[in-house]
Amino acid sequence: MERRVDELGRVVIPNHIRKALELEPKTKVKFEVSGKSVIVSKAYPTCIICGSEKDLTEVKGKHVCADCRRQLI
Ligand SMILES: [Zn+2]
Repeated sequence: MERRVDELGRVVIPNHIRKALELEPKTKVKFEVSGKSVIVSKAYPTCIICGSEKDLTEVKGKHVCADCRRQLI
């Protein structure tokens, strides 16, 4: 399947792909470049200090992992 990038750099993710990946409106996605390809994947919360995805606690809308939380105390 091919889509064109518009003047503002936007591309619509085809509906069947959005459904398959459960990409609801306002879902965050991340972009990664691999060679000449762009990988778009669902973004998951990460620690604002170290980037870890494990043992997160939300504090005032930000996520902090257990290791970083221990160092802050
Ligand atoms: Zn951390």
